[in-house]
Amino acid sequence: MALDYLSLLNPSQAGAVMQTEGPCMIIAGAGSGKTRVLTYRIAHLIEQGVDPFNILALTFTNKAAKEMRARVEKVVGPNARNLWMGTFHSVFAKILRSEADKIGYPRSFTIYDTQDSKTLIGQIVKELELDDKLYKPSLVLGRISAAKNKLISVNQYLHDPAIKADDEAALRPKIGVLYQQYQMRCFKAGAMDFDDLLFNTNVLFKEHADVLNKYQNLFRFVMVDEYQDTNYSQYLITRKLAAKERNICVVGDDAQSIYAFRGADISNILNFEKDYPELKVFKLEQNYRSTKNIVWAANSVIKNNQAQLRKSVFSENEDGTLIEVIKAASDNEEGKLVANSIYEDKMNQHLSYDNFAILYRTNAQSRAMEEALRKLNIKYKIVGGLSFYQRKEIKDLVAYLRLTVNQNDEQALRRVINYPKRGIGDTTISKLITTADEANHTLWEVVANADQFMPARVANPVVGFAEKIKSYMVVAQKEDAFEAAKFIAKNSGMLEELYADKSIEGLSRYENIQELLNGIKEYVDDPEREDKGLAAFLQDIALVTDSDVKDAQQDGEAVTLMTIHSAKGLEFRNVYIVGMEENLFPSQMMITSRADLEEERRLFYVAITRAEKKLTLSYATSRYQWGNLRSCEKSRFLDEIDPQYINFKFAPPTGPGSGESPFQHVFERRSNLVATPPRKLAATKYVAPADFKPSDTSNLQTGQRVEHPKFGYGTVSQLENQQGTTKATIQFEEVGEKVLLLSFAKLRVL
Ligand code: ATP
Ligand code: MG
Repeated sequence: MALDYLSLLNPSQAGAVMQTEGPCMIIAGAGSGKTRVLTYRIAHLIEQGVDPFNILALTFTNKAAKEMRARVEKVVGPNARNLWMGTFHSVFAKILRSEADKIGYPRSFTIYDTQDSKTLIGQIVKELELDDKLYKPSLVLGRISAAKNKLISVNQYLHDPAIKADDEAALRPKIGVLYQQYQMRCFKAGAMDFDDLLFNTNVLFKEHADVLNKYQNLFRFVMVDEYQDTNYSQYLITRKLAAKERNICVVGDDAQSIYAFRGADISNILNFEKDYPELKVFKLEQNYRSTKNIVWAANSVIKNNQAQLRKSVFSENEDGTLIEVIKAASDNEEGKLVANSIYEDKMNQHLSYDNFAILYRTNAQSRAMEEALRKLNIKYKIVGGLSFYQRKEIKDLVAYLRLTVNQNDEQALRRVINYPKRGIGDTTISKLITTADEANHTLWEVVANADQFMPARVANPVVGFAEKIKSYMVVAQKEDAFEAAKFIAKNSGMLEELYADKSIEGLSRYENIQELLNGIKEYVDDPEREDKGLAAFLQDIALVTDSDVKDAQQDGEAVTLMTIHSAKGLEFRNVYIVGMEENLFPSQMMITSRADLEEERRLFYVAITRAEKKLTLSYATSRYQWGNLRSCEKSRFLDEIDPQYINFKFAPPTGPGSGESPFQHVFERRSNLVATPPRKLAATKYVAPADFKPSDTSNLQTGQRVEHPKFGYGTVSQLENQQGTTKATIQFEEVGEKVLLLSFAKLRVL
């Protein structure tokens, strides 16, 4: 045995690991080792001779799956690679890839991401001439998604009087019709959205007993992490799969259920006890992750919730430092104080930036944090937010690739039919769409035969486009994903178009395409990969969560920034929870009932329990929201923490003339350490010091920090030599980007 895993577990944990047969459930507090138990349970099964192919383990993110697999591999060796392990979406997408034809979809179905779905709904709303303010795509998609997660089909939706009454009361009686149209259009396009992956798995298992039977025999052992956040659709899939062997083990924490808004249902835990009367339940009460202060503070918060299974969580770790609370005058100052605190702790305690995480309620809060971190030259990575694959140019190329694999993919077709511009105007596109609808053809059929439907002058570029796509199909059949994608990027004219754009954004778009091609190359070069084709690659990226993308992009140590939702299951030495204000956290948008407030509180509990050694909470007394400066009140959640665990660090009363922050000296000292001269905290304009002297800039390098007598401090982002003169592009902190001729600019190199 490579690793004596049983010695790494306490008796209750070991008990759960060795309970390999029959149903078992562990509902226990944060940091008590649930994920560790699941990991070693898998290792134990393999050690006992179970074939990894027969084990299915469902995790909440692909990243969690990867980590778990790596740990199992440490115990059992490379055999661990054969485990079925991943998110619900990735595992069942893989199964649908080989079974989708049984329910009428092509096996090469496309996966629509949220943006595709919203665009399609927007189009349908327009076509049905509905009010697009009332039927906002995100709202409609939310309703459709909620229905699918409860396994409510279009037909049921249209005929259920309660649903009808509900929609009518909300003045949106047409949601059912939109659901119907949306589903029809997706089906016609050979596409599934994320919810369809689970919905259709349920349909598949329901309608094809033989298929269900096959997977029941395959997955002899089923395990689910973060079980509290499964929705009905996911619950039913696991129940069906485990119905025969009944070897199912779920772990979770009701106090950490934070996805009710997406249909997660806490009653899945209660149902579990009903479904399996022979159930073995294990209790874990010791938190191994956090200091006593953090555990106690978390307990004092969560006890305010009425709806929870009572359980006690304790820690035998040291008491640790008290929880710090930072009050700032504005969101920008909050950013600065947090960045300073990180810098100070890193230096004083010799930590790596990987030890730090900044957690926030909404993605928009990252901006102030990012700015402050950048000013102190602290490296960071953002998990979530606008991911690589959400960028326009990436979506454009991916649309070409998708269309090459599945010509019925209408969203992809519309996206690129006239990009790069090839003289196919909006009128022509509308004409193509109406023709397709009227003649009951797919859009692709009409595009490929455009000359039959319109005059040659208009039809020619359309047919030309179709010929291009057909040639890509031939290449994709012969070559691997990388060769095909490279050919398509060039031949479509995309690369040329982006290359011609010499602005910074144009350049970065071009680089992004290169980066995507690099990624595909890496994909096909992976010796483990059996299917190196374009379709397989597309499936892979359709399922990458934002966190996975960022992970791959970032190397070197960096502070992690992310929403609390994406921090679930993770742990960091030092954690900052920022924006502890009423209407932000708890979120104003989310609270309409006690149940909502309790969900927000569970979210706070999740955030607190990510911290191992030090927890800092911060809030600002004013903040920009939707373009307006608003004054803010501190969050009620701060008052719920037992004050004996808190160390309040107050900044001074704020407002005009209220003086400097007590952190000023700290700030200046630290700023010096990163070679930035002292700066005022308040947003005063830069004034050049009396002794300002320009330096010699002949050896200036990109990345260097400079000072300019008028524009203040900045960083050189680009140097360009043109006929003997050097042009420097500089990102100034106060005035933004400037391009200066070095021979004229008076710059001081810092
Ligand atoms: P969460 O509810 O946040 O998902 P969890 O219950 O899944 O937490 P783990 O992530 O498995 O908890 O464990 C928390 C930390 O405690 C990890 O760093 C883990 O390695 C450590 N740990 C768990 N059990 C033990 C143990 N018996 N001895 C030492 N360390 C342990
Ligand atoms: Mg866990």
